[in-house]
Amino acid sequence: MRRQRKAKIVATLGPASADQKTIQALFEAGADVFRFNFSHGSHADHQERYDIVRAVEKNVGRPIAILADLQGPKLRIGTFADGKIALQAGQEFTLDRDNTPGNAQRVYLPHPELFEVIAGGQSLLLDDGKVRLEVLACDGQSIRTRVVNSGSLSDRKGVNVPDAVLPIPALTEKDKRDLKFALELGVDWIALSFVQRPEDVLEARALIGDRASILSKLEKPAALEQLDAIVQVSDAIMVARGDLGVELPPERVPGVQKRILRVCRQHGKPIVIATQMLESMITSPVPTRAETSDVASAIYDGADAVMLSAESASGAYPLPAVAMMDRIITEVERDPLYQNMLDAQHESPLPNRGDAICSALRDVTRIIGAKATVTYTSSGHTSLRAARERPMAPILSITPKLSTARRLALVWGVHSTISDQVHNESEMVTAACQTAVKEGFAKAGDQIAITAGMPFGQSGSTNLLRLAEIWPE
Ligand code: PGA
Ligand code: MN
Repeated sequence: MRRQRKAKIVATLGPASADQKTIQALFEAGADVFRFNFSHGSHADHQERYDIVRAVEKNVGRPIAILADLQGPKLRIGTFADGKIALQAGQEFTLDRDNTPGNAQRVYLPHPELFEVIAGGQSLLLDDGKVRLEVLACDGQSIRTRVVNSGSLSDRKGVNVPDAVLPIPALTEKDKRDLKFALELGVDWIALSFVQRPEDVLEARALIGDRASILSKLEKPAALEQLDAIVQVSDAIMVARGDLGVELPPERVPGVQKRILRVCRQHGKPIVIATQMLESMITSPVPTRAETSDVASAIYDGADAVMLSAESASGAYPLPAVAMMDRIITEVERDPLYQNMLDAQHESPLPNRGDAICSALRDVTRIIGAKATVTYTSSGHTSLRAARERPMAPILSITPKLSTARRLALVWGVHSTISDQVHNESEMVTAACQTAVKEGFAKAGDQIAITAGMPFGQSGSTNLLRLAEIWPE
């Protein structure tokens, strides 16, 4: 079974997509990666979904990546005596350290660290940005604010603090429990929410080791100030436009998305564009034209993957949403302009043997019209560097490691397969040709280009480029 497209689809699982029949149908409709959102659901729910995805993986015979998305330091206000209050523009409103229920004048803010960094002139955004408060003063005990726009507030609504680097760890106690659980399950990717600095990623890496790859969610303006460094220490990046569009004015999100895309493409790190991509399909069987255009633009810009959140997790049309994404991507990739755009953004190879080989691979596949770019990889690195080249021919990645094959499901153009270690060049060519035929990439008479490292099985040794023709059986 092979996909007829290169960009990937990440689908979030939730109550609308909890049973095996639906999850398998989502995979068949095009979902390459399943996201488990640890902001919702119990460990028992995630365990059940995990078992189902692995059962589906077995049924369909294709490696599937599971992305465990940790909630991160999501800030929230306390509760109100009446559950809800109304705020009038211009009135004063105080957030304080008093844990009694609030009223229309004040509410508890259960995050003592915030009182250290909040200062007059900054903004606080509540309930996904629906209520904006301008900070008048903060004395370490209470934050006095003026309400900028009228609205209502209810218990435990979210708080965003766009103007400050928060002195809070990237992983909360809940995240640490969830992380331990997710790693024990055997997830392939861990997503870190609200990453602010490269140290946040390094701290998570120290706990995770090589048990999973790390995807950093960019949703804080502070992260943009150290974008390059964060991309370098992460294995992949998500443009998390939901919170990003609260912390930044929404009109700045498109430019920021393009800037993040560019940096990720330079470093060859997979990039996922997320949130509200087909939002209207939560309740409608067809998307808006603006949404289809948004998904298509991300693909034209060279994104590795596009993501569905509530559309697949809790909406009324999870399957049509995945199928729609699949059709949009396929259509873009058929457009000659797409390849032109990828070529125009082509990143120069770094001066090392692996990049030199992958760059040559791209040229060779185009010149001889090769049907597949075959990469032998142990850690996945060679397949990632080949994907960075955005070659015309699909990347057929061969690895002996199931964990590598699964992680690569997120990466542009990569079709991963698992196969025993080869020991010499002739075994390599035979296995590559057999795999290309079996996986539906080539038939007798077709050319393929193969890259590997000698000695075989040693990570980081890519030094071989071999062309081969598929022989008749
Ligand atoms: P979330 O992340 O759904 O976990 O908040 C995505 C986003 O903020 O866009
Ligand atoms: Mn978010």
